[in-house]
Amino acid sequence: MNREELAELIFPDITKTIEDYEKLYPERNLSENARITRFAPSPTGFMHIGHFMPSLIDYVLARQSNGVFFLRNEDTDTSREVEGAVEYIRSVLKTYDLNPDEYEYRDTNETKGEYGPYIQTERKEIYHTFIKHLILEGKAYPCFLTQEEMDSIRESQSRDKRRIGIYGRYAKYRDLPVEEAINRIKNGEIYTIRLKSSGDFNRKFKFNDLANGEMEFPENDIDIPIMKSKDRLPTYHFAHLVDDHLMHTTHVVRGQEWMSSIPIHYELFKTFGFKMPKYVHIPLILKKDGDSIRKISKRLDPEAKMSYYEEKGYPPLAVIEAVMTIANSNYEAWREGHPDAHFTEFEFSPKKMSASGALFDLDKLDNISKNYISKLTKEEVYEGVLEWSKKYDSEFANILEKYKNKSMAIYNIEREQKKPRKDYAYYSEIKEKTWYMYDEYFKDIEYDFSAYDREEVKKILNIYIQEYYSELDTEEMWFNKIKELCEKENYATNMKEYKEDSSKFKGSVVDVTNMIRIALTTLTTTPNLYALMQILGAERVKNRIQKITQ
Ligand code: GLU
Repeated sequence: MNREELAELIFPDITKTIEDYEKLYPERNLSENARITRFAPSPTGFMHIGHFMPSLIDYVLARQSNGVFFLRNEDTDTSREVEGAVEYIRSVLKTYDLNPDEYEYRDTNETKGEYGPYIQTERKEIYHTFIKHLILEGKAYPCFLTQEEMDSIRESQSRDKRRIGIYGRYAKYRDLPVEEAINRIKNGEIYTIRLKSSGDFNRKFKFNDLANGEMEFPENDIDIPIMKSKDRLPTYHFAHLVDDHLMHTTHVVRGQEWMSSIPIHYELFKTFGFKMPKYVHIPLILKKDGDSIRKISKRLDPEAKMSYYEEKGYPPLAVIEAVMTIANSNYEAWREGHPDAHFTEFEFSPKKMSASGALFDLDKLDNISKNYISKLTKEEVYEGVLEWSKKYDSEFANILEKYKNKSMAIYNIEREQKKPRKDYAYYSEIKEKTWYMYDEYFKDIEYDFSAYDREEVKKILNIYIQEYYSELDTEEMWFNKIKELCEKENYATNMKEYKEDSSKFKGSVVDVTNMIRIALTTLTTTPNLYALMQILGAERVKNRIQKITQ
């Protein structure tokens, strides 16, 4: 039969059949409800939040069903590959502890899992086997359209407002006699392999997306390319079919942008008679921009890139928490009831994803993160900030190592109590909020006492340090003394009275503590002042105050 000759001509080395591969990749030995998910990034850029959310959902779905979560490197578009992207994706998964059960890392020669290779360029023979089968069946064909011809088809289609693609009369080579195709190939003509679509665009089919519910699509009638001419690698669509079939993926969680490919995937799975996996197309991730809401953008929004969170030093679990909160509408309520549970214990339901988009809000992340950091021990905060600074601020890392106990004492201020302080949202902020505690940074300082008369500041600080300050005081004694000073110098200690008629006073107790605070830290908001003064110690407190009073 001619088709056999054509198939042999194109794939002379392919001797296995689809059945052979199905035997090599048998059903996984898992319980019926186990979910098999995959994170399948293309190494064409750096990981953004639109990739992170599906990988997190994949991980949760697998973990909570005793399933499998595997990582597949979709590197068939070799021209778009970005150096370091694979390693970066892997490091993000590691940072967030979303470790895949099966994977293949070329650079370190590590691989785990029985369903590999997990790098698509290493699966060429498998794809060719499936394509050869289609050629034999007359369901795929070599197409000799040149780039120029395709460009001109596209141009005329968009000019005439027709659908773009190779279908109907544009599919010039779909009915080319097989002998002619053989001759052209023998003559060295360049070709791609296209699916011979059997769909009818005017017919509709129903499709159930787990996140978006039942939808209706027109059938695919485009003869999509399934193997590229240049490197003979498959296109994304075809690799998706082959890999998710052989790897027994049960749930495909991917970005909205793939929704429009459903008709193609539906046709491909039908053509082979394979069971389609379930699909979860995740909502667009949105952000507030002034009064409007728009899609988060890699170009405009630094927070779209996962590197942003690492550079700022957000604890990974806080980021996970924020993403889970927008991924499932009932997550927050669940979290309230289960404050200490691991996020994988939450029963994730794709149905509870918002089809209209998920609003990601940095303020909300900050709140979640503050809350998270407030519950850590001082040792954990210290380790977190040290790890962050080793990567991003080695000078601060040295300081932290030199003053370990002092740093932990700072982080411990109002920590071990029922309602701990929520000072820090991310680790880089800890330096911004505590630098003044280290003499190394407390040099060439500018103070802003502009809210007060400078002579008055000097006077108050002088009296305070000469007559009232003692390192040995308890917090209560310390505060009573500040109040005594206030009374003596006509600063209100009773805020109600002060608000009723401020003209009776020079200021209030808040002003007095602020003068002390600015002198010691340059800032007007800090953690508990008494605690800071205890950590600074009498000598440093006196020195710093004298700098102002002299
Ligand atoms: N390689 C595709 C991407 O990076 C994967 C989409 C999918 O999960 O199927 O967008």
